[in-house]
Amino acid sequence: MTSRAVSFWLHSQDLTFQSESALPPQADVVVIGGGITGICTAYWLSQLGIRPVVLERGHLSCGATGRNGGHCVFGANQSFKASVEDIGLEETLAVWDFTEQSSQLLQEVTHRHSIDCDLRFNRLVAFAMTPAQAQAIQDNCDVMRSHGLEATYWTQAEVYQQTQCSAFLAAGVKPHHGQLWPAQLVVGLAKAAQHQAHIHTQVEVQAVTRQGKDLHITTNQGQIQTQAVVYATNALAYHLLPNLKEVIIPVRGQVVATAPTAPLFDFDWLLNDGYEYAIQRQDGRIIFGGMRWKSPTKEVGIEDDTTLNPSVSEGLKAFLRDTFTPLRDIAIEYEWTGIMGFTADENPIVGELPNRPGEYISAGYTGHGMALAIAAGKAIAERITGSAQTPIPKAFRPERFGLG
Ligand SMILES: Cc1cc2nc3c(=O)[nH]c(=O)nc-3n(C[C@H](O)[C@H](O)[C@H](O)COP(=O)(O)OP(=O)(O)OC[C@H]3O[C@@H](n4cnc5c(N)ncnc54)[C@H](O)[C@@H]3O)c2cc1C
Repeated sequence: MTSRAVSFWLHSQDLTFQSESALPPQADVVVIGGGITGICTAYWLSQLGIRPVVLERGHLSCGATGRNGGHCVFGANQSFKASVEDIGLEETLAVWDFTEQSSQLLQEVTHRHSIDCDLRFNRLVAFAMTPAQAQAIQDNCDVMRSHGLEATYWTQAEVYQQTQCSAFLAAGVKPHHGQLWPAQLVVGLAKAAQHQAHIHTQVEVQAVTRQGKDLHITTNQGQIQTQAVVYATNALAYHLLPNLKEVIIPVRGQVVATAPTAPLFDFDWLLNDGYEYAIQRQDGRIIFGGMRWKSPTKEVGIEDDTTLNPSVSEGLKAFLRDTFTPLRDIAIEYEWTGIMGFTADENPIVGELPNRPGEYISAGYTGHGMALAIAAGKAIAERITGSAQTPIPKAFRPERFGLG
């Protein structure tokens, strides 16, 4: 392992956030985690007139939210076709609707609170690196179109025309995709929620214990009593909920940010079955992540986001250099790692935990939390306040893993 990982998304001075000081002895709701899930949930709770207490062990966005690839992937984590095969058409469409709702909510809240998080929308192009991937992309486009969804298949010649790159055998194009600066969104929403929410950083939750309906939250700075808790701790959920150990698996991802450069493509891209992912920001930087398959463990089970894997690092840099002529001499200005939470079926876990009234979770986004967390936070907040409106797809329910 090499030097300390410094995320591009966390370098900005604008991320300064003033934490509350003393913990209150009681709270309407305690939200554990100050990433996109925790802060979105606190934001929606505060919109519903509740005064949540957020407890974050580090600083806001210090977890995956400040260390990701900056994509908002609308639709299921799996391909549309794979999702239909696994959970059926109706549920797949429910998942797609949920992410489309997130897209709407992102636009509404950033507009309402003037949050400048570089949110913009683009096409997403998924490139095939092997004949099997090309076939899978073509099949997926066919299935999507047969259900009235927009999807375009590019042959190798069409890909070359678009990219001047011969490494790609085919591609699938989705019309709706987003990119954003996740940590800027989080700090903007945290400030918007502060009229109601008490947000504490550097407070680590050590245990949640139950006495009847009361939940006691033990932290490194004292105890809080509440009747509702939200676990927004993503890959680390099992630290407080040991029965999630085999359910949400930590997987480390690695990302580089180049120096600003001339526009390469006018779309965001995925490669190699989604293992690699890239956006080019408006400032010209390319944010490129993936290559964890260069590690014998595929970085599964790793929770350390302070170091880099040199093999993954070399893979990321070599790919950019060797695949795209204009990037032959591109400088890499930032490189970092972050911890994703993977589930076996690639869907997140969103809702009240079985047999644990008042304990809610939204986690396990399997590398795709940006297009899920804002609607998930709203759905959880509505359930806590008894004002349920946002349907949670059945495919996200905690019960499916028999967590009782
Ligand atoms: C390398 C990488 C690339 C990714 N790329 C993308 C992408 O391009 N698009 C996309 O949609 N998603 C991407 N993801 C996934 C996305 O970042 C996550 O799904 C999302 O950030 C999850 O947000 P969260 O708030 O649930 O979790 P986190 O951001 O991980 O936040 C959890 C928080 O809980 C805190 N915490 C944990 N335990 C405790 C405790 N006991 N007490 C107090 N606080 C605690 C942590 O410090 C942390 O801040 C990527 C992730 C990584 C790591």
